[in-house]
Amino acid sequence: MARVQGIKDYQCFIGGRWRGAESGETFESVDPFLAKPWARIPKCDQRDVDAAVAAARKALEKGDWANMHPSQRGKLLHKLGDLILRDADHLAATEVQDNGKLYAEMRGQVGYIPQWYYYFGGLADKIEGAVVPIDKADMFTYTRHEPVGVVAAITAWNSPLLLLTWKLAAALAAGCTIVAKPSEFTSASTLEFARLVEEAGFPAGVFNVVTGFGAEVGEALTTHKGVDKIAFTGGENSGRHIARNAAQTFKRLTLELGGKSAQLVFPDTDIDNAVKGVVSGIFAATGQTCIAGSRLLVHESIHNEFLDKFTALAKTARMGDPMDMATQVGPVTTQPQYQRILSCIEMARNEGAECVMGGKAADRPECGDGWFIEPTVFSNVSNSMRIAQEEVFGPVLSVIRFREDEEAYDIANDTAYGLAAGVWTDNPRRMFTAAKRLRAGSIWTNTYRAVSYMAPFGGFKNSGIGRESGQEAILEYLETKCVWMSYGKDVPNPFVMR
Ligand code: NAD
Repeated sequence: MARVQGIKDYQCFIGGRWRGAESGETFESVDPFLAKPWARIPKCDQRDVDAAVAAARKALEKGDWANMHPSQRGKLLHKLGDLILRDADHLAATEVQDNGKLYAEMRGQVGYIPQWYYYFGGLADKIEGAVVPIDKADMFTYTRHEPVGVVAAITAWNSPLLLLTWKLAAALAAGCTIVAKPSEFTSASTLEFARLVEEAGFPAGVFNVVTGFGAEVGEALTTHKGVDKIAFTGGENSGRHIARNAAQTFKRLTLELGGKSAQLVFPDTDIDNAVKGVVSGIFAATGQTCIAGSRLLVHESIHNEFLDKFTALAKTARMGDPMDMATQVGPVTTQPQYQRILSCIEMARNEGAECVMGGKAADRPECGDGWFIEPTVFSNVSNSMRIAQEEVFGPVLSVIRFREDEEAYDIANDTAYGLAAGVWTDNPRRMFTAAKRLRAGSIWTNTYRAVSYMAPFGGFKNSGIGRESGQEAILEYLETKCVWMSYGKDVPNPFVMR
């Protein structure tokens, strides 16, 4: 796919209007492969956030959206899905120019995104309350599920539109209104996407995009009295800070945070398949995925054979321009992240882990000026080392041996995170035991990195709060109201509880 040449100017989308930031200021978005700016993005501040939240509040409470029948909401969601499909090439190329991930991966993601709008569009008119068979005489009691209100949707840079969609499709189906804030590193695709929301015919104020930095725009949103719920994807520390902000006004909260997921390889597995699965878990997307399988727990009896086959396959990975469909490992998205990965590699060496592959910045000619890191493997890692405990968010694998199954489960669970785990075995008893013993939100057996609009996704422990996708995700965007109606003739004793 072709890149945008020169610098493209973007505007934010507030209350159905395209405009610059109130301050008139902008910041640059940088292409990670070329290490050069390619877009100018409005640098919003508190004033823009106030305007966006006011527009979202107005649309929530009065007018076309507030009065729209849920079936009609579902139709709009469906239309939005169709438009995304129509423009998938362009949206995917925009994401690649912003985050440097492979076009092959981003095109696949964007092509799949409409399914969330179809699925949640279908759910919009199936949000049913219940009649409660109440234990009081002459009383009719029922529940209503109502939209939670104005949602601040804050996303990370690795998969901007997918992460937004996991929030937006459920929130719109529930009847909420949204102020989205993409990462300052990857704002462009969310702004391109807003054009499709407009074209689909959503009323003004239902979906707004403010762009800018976490400390300014993110802070203004997460402390705003007009925001009822925060749906956040990002790092653990930001999540902790946001949870504190949310507590001030008891905002509802969904957090999708980091991970240090383990891939457990048992001796009865098909080693060649497991090798492919572990490679895909850590080197696909250059390891910049929350579900990266960054710890390999391998049985001691197959350790050496597995590692030989693993490094042999990983060494064949083609690095280069992420727009090229043949490229398998692209650059790191941001310069700070590139520096952080290199410092994690240094840290692992200092802790005594043995680097058996990579372990440095890539200087291959095909990497140009981009921020590339060689796929890296550390063996002889102990689970107490920082390299085994801290999220790297890059192409760095820590290899740990185990002898007993129970030992493997204990090591896998011995982390502050609980986002995902992979299990490689042909033994059904191990499959079920592992699924029960591992404390993580997604367990993949003989596969890895599979997600679906139908399947709930989220983390245990420090990996987050709440679930996205699947039917239960809609509950994250609803409040339950209980309505009591007495049809008795007399009001009973007013001095006691009924
Ligand atoms: P980040 O926390 O730095 O930023 C995420 C978003 O939060 C950005 O939009 C940023 O501007 C905003 N932000 C930062 N500080 C804020 C504050 N004080 N108040 C409000 N908003 C603030 O994370 P990142 O570097 O963009 O993304 C990488 C992290 O995201 C990794 O830890 C990764 O595991 C996690 N992630 C999790 C999932 C998941 O679904 N669990 C998916 C992708 C990424």
